[in-house]
Amino acid sequence: MIVVLKPNVAMEKQERLIDWLKSLSLNVHVSTGEFQTVLGLVGDTSTVDTSLLESLEIVDTVTRVSDPFKRANRKFHPEDTVIDVNGVKIGGGNFAIIAGPCSVESEDQIVTIAKSVKASGAKMLRGGAFKPRTSPYDFQGLKKEGLRLLSIAKKETGLPVVTEVMNAADLPLFDDVDIIQVGARNTQNFDLLKELGTVGKPILLKRGIAGTLKELLMSAEYIMSSGNEKVILCERGIRTYSDYTRNTLDLAAVPMLHELSHLPVVVDPSHATGIAKLVTPMALAASVCGADGLEIEVHNNPEHAWSDGAQSLRPEDFDKLAKKVFALREVMD
Ligand code: PEP
Ligand code: MN
Repeated sequence: MIVVLKPNVAMEKQERLIDWLKSLSLNVHVSTGEFQTVLGLVGDTSTVDTSLLESLEIVDTVTRVSDPFKRANRKFHPEDTVIDVNGVKIGGGNFAIIAGPCSVESEDQIVTIAKSVKASGAKMLRGGAFKPRTSPYDFQGLKKEGLRLLSIAKKETGLPVVTEVMNAADLPLFDDVDIIQVGARNTQNFDLLKELGTVGKPILLKRGIAGTLKELLMSAEYIMSSGNEKVILCERGIRTYSDYTRNTLDLAAVPMLHELSHLPVVVDPSHATGIAKLVTPMALAASVCGADGLEIEVHNNPEHAWSDGAQSLRPEDFDKLAKKVFALREVMD
């Protein structure tokens, strides 16, 4: 249930109302906007008398929400969430490109790529240290050593680092990571999501391989209801009967998620298509349909990449992509 308060309500009156609602065993989520405060009531609201609430002098409107996601819901939080990662903002009109290799392979590889994507305008560095691979015989990531190399690249370039966690037990190793990614295979690993609710870092939450938007939002809800409101949603394509691409990029998800939720939405055209030459056109399309950012795989030697070489852009092609995206955004403003 959503209770919108009248503008400029005295704090004391607002607090008295919140105390009363809490005494009804409801969790009250307060969103303070520039003009109005919105109270999101989570819990069993069936016994709440809406007409009584509406009749209160400080209450503007009361709406019952049937959506199962509350904290991620735009109705609870009308303003866009802006996530600040060491000064790099994403959401609410702030756009950021995250770029880097699929996997961290060596110090030279990650530092070289980090410097080049930064020069092209990327605001954050990606690189997998723990890799979720379909085959147990494929490269599984450099793990702890990969995180150490990411820290070196971060120190050399100042770029905040985004990397995936697969297991909550590894989280103590993630101290120097700026955004923790949850991959498509773990979007519904609810124990992991609950654990991520207790870390103070933003979470880049990918859409599940065949996940619906509601499932994605419910996964965000797991993290948020466990205490971490800093969630970035990521559309990375879903499994369909597409025969020539790795996945099907669902771009309608971007405006739809923006309507449903206040959380930033980024698009990953690399995993969505699996083919390097499709990455730029899809990145441009994603920028036009309102993505708050892009996550792009870039490798200095794609033919010899230890994972996802076929979808990785060479640094010079990433540079062209970035120039086109920035030019498009200028036109759109
Ligand atoms: C990745 O970003 O490296 C990755 C494995 O992506 P996804 O979880 O979307 O497949
Ligand atoms: Mn990859």
